[in-house]
Amino acid sequence: MSSADVAPDASPDIVIIGAGPAGLTAAYQLNKAGVPSTVLEADNVVGGISRTVERDGWRFDLGGHRFFTKVGVVSDFWHEILEPDEFLLRPRMSRIYYEGKYFDYPLRAMNALRNLGFVEAVLCVLSYAWARVRPPKDQTNYEGWLVARFGWRLYRTFFKTYTEKVWGVPVSKMPADWAAQRIKNLSLLSAIMNAVLPKRNQKDITSLIEEFEYPKYGPGMMWERCRDLVEAQGTKVLMQTPVSRVRHQDGRAVSVLVDPDGVGTEYPADHVVSSMPMALLLKAMDPPVPPAVQAAAGGLAFRDFLTVALVVPEASGFPDNWIYVHDPEVKLGRIQNFGSWSPYLVKEGRTCLGLEYFVFEGDELWNSADEDLIALGTRELTKLGLVDPTKVEAGYVVRVPKAYPVYDETYKANVEVLKTWLAEHAPNVHPVGRNGMHKYNNQDHSMLTAMLTVENILGARHDIWAVNVEEEYHEEAMAPADGERETVSTSGTGRDAPIIPREAYGPDHPVNQPKS
Ligand SMILES: Cc1cc2nc3c(=O)[nH]c(=O)nc-3n(C[C@H](O)[C@H](O)[C@H](O)COP(=O)(O)OP(=O)(O)OC[C@H]3O[C@@H](n4cnc5c(N)ncnc54)[C@H](O)[C@@H]3O)c2cc1C
Repeated sequence: MSSADVAPDASPDIVIIGAGPAGLTAAYQLNKAGVPSTVLEADNVVGGISRTVERDGWRFDLGGHRFFTKVGVVSDFWHEILEPDEFLLRPRMSRIYYEGKYFDYPLRAMNALRNLGFVEAVLCVLSYAWARVRPPKDQTNYEGWLVARFGWRLYRTFFKTYTEKVWGVPVSKMPADWAAQRIKNLSLLSAIMNAVLPKRNQKDITSLIEEFEYPKYGPGMMWERCRDLVEAQGTKVLMQTPVSRVRHQDGRAVSVLVDPDGVGTEYPADHVVSSMPMALLLKAMDPPVPPAVQAAAGGLAFRDFLTVALVVPEASGFPDNWIYVHDPEVKLGRIQNFGSWSPYLVKEGRTCLGLEYFVFEGDELWNSADEDLIALGTRELTKLGLVDPTKVEAGYVVRVPKAYPVYDETYKANVEVLKTWLAEHAPNVHPVGRNGMHKYNNQDHSMLTAMLTVENILGARHDIWAVNVEEEYHEEAMAPADGERETVSTSGTGRDAPIIPREAYGPDHPVNQPKS
């Protein structure tokens, strides 16, 4: 059935909150079924966290966004949206920077040995042997668990600093059980065997790791084109239209309200597909949800992110797509070289480096002036010996609130409370996507939740919450859990995150402050 077959007033009113990957996927899939919708987007660009930022003709990602998936329908979708010559197959290269050395990532035994040097390598082996003889007494925390498997020296080189930068808490305060359940049989010996032996039965996996697809003009290109396509089919995509209320009555949502300048507009809704943060969705319910549900919404926390993009001569770049910076001397966690992602993102003779800082909204870095952050980034790159500060031509700062849903000891229960309330009082409100479901999803899983939700609206009965659970996953040895990096033994395309106890952040930390 094409959209032309459906009389406008025969279509249900479907309001989609957010024009990120999940929201636009929902709109696209609805159009395929002949059902136009209205997409309400708070920002002035589409793509959500997967957008491409454009400043003075430079295009860069918030983080680097690889397109890789094991979900066939998602891959088909990407290829349907972009022409073959617009969707590049890019080589992947990434390394770890530690104490002036670059370690291949994924780690390779000979390269690691060469970088460590003979003396340090022997010390690492002795430290490992010592940890075998005297393993840490407490292995319920991630530090003790890792030290028991690798020894202190390797733990400090390859795990500690980066993990702490990403999550903002000491590794010793992170529980080990999430890793222990997933990372079966991980030890120095198995990691070395993995690194040395030829990979068996890993053809797909290797290719996933060594190359990935990427839109010529960055991830935002996918979503900009998707917007154009859905608009051409009659869907409205309204920008700078933040949803502030979802009105419900008699056990259903009836409309969505937008109130940007005190001038309210109400959009009637038979269905609401929401990719806005789930906690904020529940807080936007009108009449309000009961105090216990408010409290559960207030209990969901986030880790935030900011990127400092610096324009430098091409010669100051590096061949890697990104470098993990394990060095504790600098605050930055990862550096992207966007010229390596796509030559179409940068201009002749120059490249753009994206310095990634993992932060909390409202902390010192977050509140720093852009000029100070650009100066900090320049100093840190100089300290790492990567860039001559006089060669930095321009700098841009982008702050990304709610970049990572935090998994703490209460998040599952909180999400359950919100889910249950919605199911009972507004079952026609469908949470989708990453923050929409408070799930640590990549684009593909965010999109899949939207695709299945559209099928549900059209009559299917999928369990959207099961997405991401049953995937088959691959392994990258000795990779600590971190932000947007594949985890050690799970998640070929998914993400895993540790469950971090709230007390690990300390009582005065923003995540422990009551929220209105
Ligand atoms: C640093 C980093 C690197 C990443 N790398 C990769 C990668 O390599 N590959 C990959 O596949 N994924 C990656 N991801 C994950 C990817 O960014 C997300 O999975 C994806 O963007 C989620 O899509 P979404 O539509 O669910 O949510 P979002 O991208 O968050 O989009 C939600 C949209 O809703 C809008 N919105 C919010 N509130 C409202 C409101 N009240 N009213 C109206 N609109 C609202 C937002 O403005 C936004 O546009 C990365 C994420 C980060 C943080």
